[in-house]
Amino acid sequence: MYVGFRSSGGRGEYELVGRHGDLVAAQLSNWTLRWDLPDLGKLDTNLQIDPGRSGKARLRRVRDNGPQIGRQIAAILLMPFPTRSARQLSIDAPILRADSYRVTRIGVGIGSTFDATTQTLAMTLAYIEVANRTLSELHDFHARWQRISVIHRRISHLPKELADAIKLHLDALRSNSISDGLIPAARQVAHALNEDSLAEGTQHDLVGQIESILAIDSTDIVVPPTPDLVDYDSPEVRLRAASEWRSVRSRGASGQRFAREVKEAYDHQCAFCGLRLPSAHGLHSGVDAAHILPWANYDLNVICNGVCLCKIHHWTFDQSVLCLQHLGDAYVVIATRRIEALDAAARQFFAGAVGRIPDHRLPLTLADRPRHAFLDILNGTIASSLGIKGDPNYAAWLDSG
Ligand SMILES: [Zn+2]
Repeated sequence: MYVGFRSSGGRGEYELVGRHGDLVAAQLSNWTLRWDLPDLGKLDTNLQIDPGRSGKARLRRVRDNGPQIGRQIAAILLMPFPTRSARQLSIDAPILRADSYRVTRIGVGIGSTFDATTQTLAMTLAYIEVANRTLSELHDFHARWQRISVIHRRISHLPKELADAIKLHLDALRSNSISDGLIPAARQVAHALNEDSLAEGTQHDLVGQIESILAIDSTDIVVPPTPDLVDYDSPEVRLRAASEWRSVRSRGASGQRFAREVKEAYDHQCAFCGLRLPSAHGLHSGVDAAHILPWANYDLNVICNGVCLCKIHHWTFDQSVLCLQHLGDAYVVIATRRIEALDAAARQFFAGAVGRIPDHRLPLTLADRPRHAFLDILNGTIASSLGIKGDPNYAAWLDSG
């Protein structure tokens, strides 16, 4: 289940979409919405599900003057202020700039509670999608929240005006209601940053700016998504979260050991094309240890959750252009429908990897080969994002590939 933005003429609307276990968004008519934030408890949002005559689970403000949900999320997570006007949307990166992007999707976390007696949805957050006219990106809520928590712990190292503004922001989050003070507090943080540390007119992401003052490298703080925190209604979102997690390189000592062990198990060969690209003669390695499941509730850094791929085949795997399946003891590379997005030369090049992987490209130790159960989970997500029904493994894909 997620809160989605729908442009419907004018300024557009937010509505609750999808299901959460047995509950369907459309059944929650007249329910009120609260935020359930980690360590801080619940906050009233001043928002209610009011379908009106549309039949859709639209979010309406209980009182006219409160902030809309996109503004609330931005203020909670210290993102710049979004716009609801399509005309103000920018077209280039970075997306998070004041008054030039929209919050387009808010994932309802698995820990959310639905209280039928009081008709209240206390919503934990899974992810936030933001977009401008041409680009979109996904922010894992917990990863961002963790960055904000680190800032709170180091608040004494910040300039006084900025530290005071951040304390005000934290107080507003503890205040039980979104309407009192959160938006002004977030504005004050932005103001303190603009005064203290920024050239006129630069209005990028507040959290990143504060981290740079504190000399925090946020790539140190990488939280892999869990499949249940990421909206299970939406395989697209799960795959994008997976892709974004995979693209972050710094994963600490155990991640580095994983990379080394996977490359050694495959003798530095790409499993898809067979090129052997070890680091040698002053060159960095041309192969990566790609995770099969990037989700935190699996054993991430075991060799059988990895596959050694060259840079270009890592991309095809990450983008689900090519996928890896098992057929008995064999491993097979299959092209998905996504290959159709590429031009003829690229399709022909990637078709060269399709088919059974020769045994000599796989680890000698059978237990180190990709675990079937991990492939099935990943392929199940890819299959549902492609609308493939039935067995996520192999046969069902041939028609669609
Ligand atoms: Zn390759």
